[in-house]
Amino acid sequence: MGEFDLIARFFTRPVRHAALGVGDDCALLAPAPGMQLAVSSDMLVEGRHFFADVDPETLGHKALAVNLSDLAACGARPLAFTLALALPCVDEAWLQGFANGLFALADQHGCELVGGDTTAGPLNICVTIFGEVPAGQALLRGGARAGDDIWVSGRPGEARLALDALRGQMDLPAATLARLRARLERPTPRVALGLALRGLASSAIDVSDGLLGDLGHVLKSSRVGAEIDVHITTDLLASGALQESAKGIFDAETMMPCALAGGDDYELVFTAPAARRAAVQAASSASGTQVTRIGRITPAPGLRLLDRTGQPLPGRFASFDHFA
Ligand code: ADP
Ligand code: MG
Repeated sequence: MGEFDLIARFFTRPVRHAALGVGDDCALLAPAPGMQLAVSSDMLVEGRHFFADVDPETLGHKALAVNLSDLAACGARPLAFTLALALPCVDEAWLQGFANGLFALADQHGCELVGGDTTAGPLNICVTIFGEVPAGQALLRGGARAGDDIWVSGRPGEARLALDALRGQMDLPAATLARLRARLERPTPRVALGLALRGLASSAIDVSDGLLGDLGHVLKSSRVGAEIDVHITTDLLASGALQESAKGIFDAETMMPCALAGGDDYELVFTAPAARRAAVQAASSASGTQVTRIGRITPAPGLRLLDRTGQPLPGRFASFDHFA
C-alpha cells in the first residue's frame, strides 16, 4: 500500500464543518464571525511518550486527547485537527486500530481531521488542533489575581501512580491498576469544563508536566504567588483508590510526589475569584467534572506548600522537563 492509498483508506473522511478537508494542498476552515482560532500542537515520540508495544487504539486516543486538553485549557471549542505521521512500515492492523482510537475521540468532540502529512521514519505522531473561542474570552495563564482560589479537576497524580506500577515500582490491586492505567493511557480532555469556565476562571492551564510545575507557569505569567494545601491534593488522590480498597492503600509519602509533580494527567488547574465559588461548582456540575479547591493566589511571589495545620512544608517538587 502506497502513501496515498494509506491516506485515502485510513485518514480521509467527509468533513461537515470545515470548508475543505483532506485531499488538496491546504484544508480550509470557516470559523464563525467574532471568533478567534485557538491553535496548538503536540508531538508523541516512541520511547519518550509511549512504549513501542502500546495498543494502537490507545495511542490514537492519546494523540488527540493531549491536543484537546490544550483547547480545554483555553476554553476553546474543538473544530478540526491535522495529523503528521512518521511510520516505520505500513501495518494495516496497526493503522486501523490507531484510526479507530483517534476517530472515536474526535467524534465525541465534533472535531474533524482535515489534513496532515505521512512519511516513512521512526514512529512519531504530531497533531495540530484548531478550536474557536469568542474574541477576548480565551482562558490564559496571565490572569490570576491575589485572593483568587486555585482549583483542580479530577485527581492529579493518578497517571503517575499507574506509570510507577507498570514499571514495577509499586504494587496495586488489579482493579486500581486497571483504572489508573486508563487514566494514563486514555486521558479525558476536560473540554466541557473549559467551556463552562469561560468568563469565570481568571486563568487556566492543563496539567501535562505536573501540578506544581504547570501552576508555576500561571504564577510566572500572572506575577503572583500561591499557597497549596498539600493534604487536600493527597487526600484527593487517595479517595480514588478508596473506591476499590476500603482499607486505603496509599500513604501520604507515596502520594505527595505523584499528586504534586506527576505528569500526564491532562486535568485543568485554574483560578477564579473567591466570590465565584458557587459559579465554579455550577460549572463543575454542568460539565460533569469534579473540581476541588486546593489553595489560593497570594500577592507575594513563590509557591508555598502548607500542611494540614497551615504550617509550611519543606521540599521542592520538580515537574517534568524534557531537557533537564
Ligand atoms: P503535499 O504534497 O501538498 O504535502 P501530501 O501529498 O502530503 O500533500 O498529502 C495529500 C493530502 O493528504 C493533503 O490534503 C494532506 O493534508 C493529506 N494528508 C496527508 N497525510 C495525512 C494524514 N496522515 N492524515 C490526514 N490527512 C493527510
Ligand atoms: Mg505532504
